[in-house]
Amino acid sequence: MRSGQWFIDGIGARWYFDSGALCLDFAYTGDFGYDNPAWERLRTPADLKAWLVERHGPLSTDAEADELSGAKELRSAITRIARAHADGAAPDPEQIDVLNSWAARPDIAPALGGGTVTPVQASTAQALATIARDAVDVFSRDSDRIRRCASQDCDLVFFDGSRPNSRRWCSMQHCGNRAKVRAHRQRAAVRPKVRPEGLEPPTTWV
Ligand SMILES: [Zn+2]
Repeated sequence: MRSGQWFIDGIGARWYFDSGALCLDFAYTGDFGYDNPAWERLRTPADLKAWLVERHGPLSTDAEADELSGAKELRSAITRIARAHADGAAPDPEQIDVLNSWAARPDIAPALGGGTVTPVQASTAQALATIARDAVDVFSRDSDRIRRCASQDCDLVFFDGSRPNSRRWCSMQHCGNRAKVRAHRQRAAVRPKVRPEGLEPPTTWV
């Protein structure tokens, strides 16, 4: 399943953050434990349904108020376990219990298209169980694959599912490019600003 979603940065620009996992995308619908209500995306049951439909396709039920609070309980457990892994700490066993209880529920059944019978649409509860099972899968892998962005001023956590396990940035377009520009400026700063013999001057010195 494709992961990632659009973020708005501090100056209002949209950028795409691929957390690398459905469960981490879900965790990032909230403030990721930074106690900032402004980052909340799931303010109403309709917000929850819209987010789940975008990921899983049409659902058979509308989300209820108690499902929204349940979704936030699941999200909080995923967030806290992910943060622990990213910080090299042991996750809280009680949060693992919460996650496991969600993962034990029926999830969305896989279905192959092209049959004569239209597959039954999943419920909100099944969509949440699918997220929980993704989290169990992700957190069962090498915990070194859950990391924070390498940029000093960025705390975003991602799951690196790549074979070489070499992802460094939350996004190449975001922190990756800023690091490249910084490295370029540092190299330029130590370069002698004297025009080499026989070469045309560049249009701008950097
Ligand atoms: Zn970053």
